[in-house]
Amino acid sequence: MPFKALNLSEPVLRGVQAAGYTDPTPIQLRAIPVVLGGGDLIGSAQTGTGKTAAFALPVLTRLGKHAAKPRVLVLEPTRELAAQVETAFRDFARFTDLRTVAVFGGVGYGSQRSELRKGVDVIVATPGRLMDYVQDGSINLRDIQILILDEVDRMLDMGFLPVVKDIIGRCPRERQTLFFSATVPPEIAAVASFALRNPTKVEIGVSRSVNNSINHALYPVAFGQKFDLLLALLEKTEFDSVLVFSRTKHGADKIARRLKAANHSVAVLHANRSQNQRIEALAGFKSGKYEVMVATDIAARGIDVAGVTHVINYDVPENPEDYVHRIGRTGRAQAVGDAFTLVTPENADDIRDIQRFIGQKIPELRLEGFDYLPFGVAQPKQPRGQRGGGGGGGGHRGGNRSGGGGGGGRSGGFRSGHGGGGGGNPNRDNNGGKVGFSFRGRR
Ligand code: AMP
Repeated sequence: MPFKALNLSEPVLRGVQAAGYTDPTPIQLRAIPVVLGGGDLIGSAQTGTGKTAAFALPVLTRLGKHAAKPRVLVLEPTRELAAQVETAFRDFARFTDLRTVAVFGGVGYGSQRSELRKGVDVIVATPGRLMDYVQDGSINLRDIQILILDEVDRMLDMGFLPVVKDIIGRCPRERQTLFFSATVPPEIAAVASFALRNPTKVEIGVSRSVNNSINHALYPVAFGQKFDLLLALLEKTEFDSVLVFSRTKHGADKIARRLKAANHSVAVLHANRSQNQRIEALAGFKSGKYEVMVATDIAARGIDVAGVTHVINYDVPENPEDYVHRIGRTGRAQAVGDAFTLVTPENADDIRDIQRFIGQKIPELRLEGFDYLPFGVAQPKQPRGQRGGGGGGGGHRGGNRSGGGGGGGRSGGFRSGHGGGGGGNPNRDNNGGKVGFSFRGRR
């Protein structure tokens, strides 16, 4: 079914066309009619499914014309998501006179206030900064007709639920509420039952599934060789842009520093960076100025960077759910992407949990030509400062990125340089994929 058949308004359809979309994604097909019909909705969909357009397009259609009072409020857990969703609203609304503003912390109040004064139809906000404006009277929620709570599970993780409940309580009772959450644990179910009326549930795939356009693999390695293996993977992999995940902010800084020392152009994204630094990092990564971005989970949640060719989990994520979110940064909207996870024997339990969560076993691969130390054997003592996000010796990068490139089409996922030759996954270990140790997950 084409977008035309979905009863979106003419200017919104033109906005969709300008965005280059031809056919609706499954969540758009199912959610758009519900939202257009004025019903409440609980949506759960895996990342990269087109969730933003699933709510933005019908909401803009429902709004019709500019009315200079905020009628739609979208709550997002992070500044990056707020900025991204605001951009999507603006893009889709470019042939309408509807106005959108993003309201989030970490930047001055001046320009947000002046936007608000001009009169807006849609506010996309993080909860804390929104409450600042509500409390000083710059924003009044009494005319809100549609409330959208996005990434609610992440709001819970970040401790936002009390303020979110407060905000919901300040919106009119007569309203439409759209609720998106990858998972619905009891605390979230309680918010949903308080906020929504007879919601239609739209679940696309299983929220814990991995987008099947992603090839993902584990790279077992001794703890002390993590950084070396990261460098070797970057050298031997033909990538356009790589997102590297660290568990900690400190670890992210350290990895970035060491990658820079090895001549990579690197951006860093985590919650301790100033808002301007975060904006610059994301913009630089999107434009190709930085080929690698090192990020923590919270900062990277939901961000949409078209063309991320690889995700590398330098550290195994703490929550299985984050595994799905992290690797969902690549392979978005059906592009093919690769996701590598560096694993040490200490990660065995985490990997088992992840495999159980996603209901599949992740293949274990070995990088040909990498000088692996044996696992499970006492490792030589780490040189100073290499634990917790730096790891390994580093420093033996030849500085010649393209050296490892070679042939290798992009279709099979794993680019050239990994073990050479062979079909499908040329770097799969010959030894039945078992590399030193194995993570067996129960289905
Ligand atoms: P989202 O899940 O909203 O973050 O969207 C993921 C990516 O899919 C974004 O880059 C969107 O621009 C893109 N996208 C969303 N809907 C469509 C569509 N119908 N056709 C093609 N790309 C889309």
